[in-house]
Amino acid sequence: MLNNKGRPTQPAAISEMDTVVETFTGNKGLELESPLIFEQGVPGRVGVDMVDPQPVKSRLGGLERKDPIGLPDLSEPQVLRHFVRLSRQNYAIDAGFYPLGSCTMKHNPRINEKVARLAGLGDLHPMQPTSTVQGALELIDSLAHWLKTITGMPAVAMSPAAGAHGELCGVMAIRAAHEASGESRTRILVPESAHGTNPATAALCGYKVDAVPARKDGRMDLDAFAEQLGPDVAGVMLTNPNTCGLFETDVKKIADMVHEVGGYFYCDGANLNAILGRVRPGDLGVDAMHINLHKTFSTPHGGGGPGAGPVVLSEALAPFAPIPFVTHGENGFDLVEQRSGAAAKSFGRMKGYHGQMGMFIRALAYMQSHGADGLRQIAEDAVLNANYIRVGLEDKLNSPFEGICMHEALFDDSTLKGTGVTTLDLAKAMIDEGYHPMTMYFPLVVHGAMLIEPTESESRQTLDQFIGSMRHLLDKAKTGESDYFLSAPHYAPRRRLDETGAARNPLLRWVPPEPAETEETSLSAAS
Ligand SMILES: *Cc1c(COP(=O)(O)O)cnc(C)c1O
Repeated sequence: MLNNKGRPTQPAAISEMDTVVETFTGNKGLELESPLIFEQGVPGRVGVDMVDPQPVKSRLGGLERKDPIGLPDLSEPQVLRHFVRLSRQNYAIDAGFYPLGSCTMKHNPRINEKVARLAGLGDLHPMQPTSTVQGALELIDSLAHWLKTITGMPAVAMSPAAGAHGELCGVMAIRAAHEASGESRTRILVPESAHGTNPATAALCGYKVDAVPARKDGRMDLDAFAEQLGPDVAGVMLTNPNTCGLFETDVKKIADMVHEVGGYFYCDGANLNAILGRVRPGDLGVDAMHINLHKTFSTPHGGGGPGAGPVVLSEALAPFAPIPFVTHGENGFDLVEQRSGAAAKSFGRMKGYHGQMGMFIRALAYMQSHGADGLRQIAEDAVLNANYIRVGLEDKLNSPFEGICMHEALFDDSTLKGTGVTTLDLAKAMIDEGYHPMTMYFPLVVHGAMLIEPTESESRQTLDQFIGSMRHLLDKAKTGESDYFLSAPHYAPRRRLDETGAARNPLLRWVPPEPAETEETSLSAAS
């Protein structure tokens, strides 16, 4: 409920709200408990009646499994209820505002879903002969064309399946390029504020990762960068806009500096929605950049489906791109699947088949339904919305860096000092307000960081209500109501979970209890 200033009205006092009513079932009205699916099984129960299979001659030469595989026996309604119950405990972009910084949790337009389900696309199989899937190959080729045009880059590798997978693709191409010119470089430079996947990717490819500190204004320190550069540097991995939500202003200079020592410029493009139609990474000297279709181009993510992380490549890196890729010749579209001919220098294959087709369809539907002007407006609205939040909270929370931000607003925890409330406690109280919390404690360069990414698909009303509830919570924290925060969330299906215990002693295997009586024995006992 909004009051006349567009701020939420004061809820009832917590002591009143926190009265716990114990129900017999453990259910709380519409919020229904569901035991683990393994605990719900009853031996012999089935969802579908099937005739007993004919005995088959084993071809496993005695290696076949002797014991049951431990799956629960369940009826169809049990399975259905279990997953419907779980889905109702889940927070989703389709349910409410999801300001998780660096994740671009924006609306997934339903036109994308409709197109992806068209029988001619949804029923394709990746092993069909290319003559029968000309339309699908043309679709991949068209999407590749849009991605190259948007970024101003000459080539794109379509097969990587996520942002991190795209980084792996880019750094493998960089390594292949150095190897092809007989060089074995050992280091990759990564700014301190980088997304964790950047140093992880460099390390996975066998490079030593050297961190470059940030300046006071949140951008990479160019003097420190210059000192670290040398002939052993394979490349730099830089995010732009960076994870502080800021545009790296010296990016062309950074590109020139790394090129001068013979290294390559990897740009983490996960935040492309901030600059879409405004800045072409190709004009900035980028050699490789992944694009998260599941962020910028609205394909579902976060439990909603697979991602896709195509990587645009410069002229220098294009020959090393992974196979397979689509080509277009006299006889229509074809796939290059061998490391020969046009793909003689390819570093090889990254995954089965050709990439995440379902995501390609959705991303192309999104691009074509927006058109060039619509795509540009995405960046404008994403930046506008983030700055609306920044200004709406600037008298309550401290921004560590001055000035206008890009697509996300970053705050530190200095205003919570002395209140006994931490960034984590504040986030838990946001759950009670019905919000997915913002990204916390990231980027690492900011103390108690809160990274809020509203995305362009939210209305002013939603932003006003969010700002209102943040102001309400911050006032509460500053007037000494820390107990409220320390016991939050009060209304979630679970309160505080033992996150440390879950990380240190994870229970990865369900241990069945002693066998209970089966349906048959209980039935016969009753008769
Ligand atoms: C999301 C993100 C990634 C990783 O993308 P995934 O698809 O989750 O692997 C990398 N860098 C940045 C800056 C991101 O926001």
